[in-house]
Amino acid sequence: MAMACNCRSYVQNARNKTNPSDEPAVTSTDYPCGVCSFCAKIASGTHPDVTQVEPENGTIKISQIRDLCDVLMLRPFECRMRVAIVNEVHLMNASSSNALLKTLEEPPEHTLLILTAHQTSDLLPTIVSRCQHIRFNPVPRSALTEILIRQRGVENKEASVISGLAHGSVSKALGLKSSWMNKRRWIMAEMGKLKESSLHVILALSEKLSKNRDDLPDILEIMLSWFRDILIYPHDPEKVINQDMLDSIRDVSERYIPDRIYRSIQAVQTMLNRIQTSKTNVQLSMDYLLLRLKAFQQ
Ligand SMILES: [Zn+2]
Repeated sequence: MAMACNCRSYVQNARNKTNPSDEPAVTSTDYPCGVCSFCAKIASGTHPDVTQVEPENGTIKISQIRDLCDVLMLRPFECRMRVAIVNEVHLMNASSSNALLKTLEEPPEHTLLILTAHQTSDLLPTIVSRCQHIRFNPVPRSALTEILIRQRGVENKEASVISGLAHGSVSKALGLKSSWMNKRRWIMAEMGKLKESSLHVILALSEKLSKNRDDLPDILEIMLSWFRDILIYPHDPEKVINQDMLDSIRDVSERYIPDRIYRSIQAVQTMLNRIQTSKTNVQLSMDYLLLRLKAFQQ
């Protein structure tokens, strides 16, 4: 979007088609070139007229929003439009939201603000009502598999597993590629033997899993997919996401009571929500989670 607003050859192409003195006509078939100096800088995240705000430690602070508003008061340095992308605005607290509200109400000229969020219900209604909504629906699993195979050369079976884990998100599917496939096998093998694991082994596993907070959402998603597969296997083995681990999923599903799988899923989901919304102690939470999961396997 930022490139589409500012691409140099895109603007030039449009100008050539019309009277040069007119505003450039933009047609639905025009795309940003991706290679001009503006596009290249925007794509690499170094263009001074495109600002991205990301949450820091699970929250968007008021100081970040104030800094952004200060930048937006300036005219674009070289582009036609200054673009600000605020990611995961549901992680703004009330004071950050209010600070942003003023700019949303009266945005400076030549400014485009893009806010991303999982769902509008997480945001202040005053923010929602001032934005135009664009919904991104999940990409079907078959289309994701196709992208991985054709564009990234991922092997068929692996592509199918990754697209199942990615919940319709292309960026997530591309991020899960490679190293996660090995981690996934290891995590699932450890989940499968929790019942026999001693306290010492479980605490050591917890330490390894919670070493990097940024990896935790993916680790927990992998656990969720594993429990989901155990639940689904007896009814429809073809719908299992982790098709390459069908044997171990069958073994575990035979000794799990469905009610305990639901409770395991709930426990993992609770931790996932907690680490995304608060500064919880991840190591302690992981200790607690693994001990609960072990108890559900008894
Ligand atoms: Zn361009």
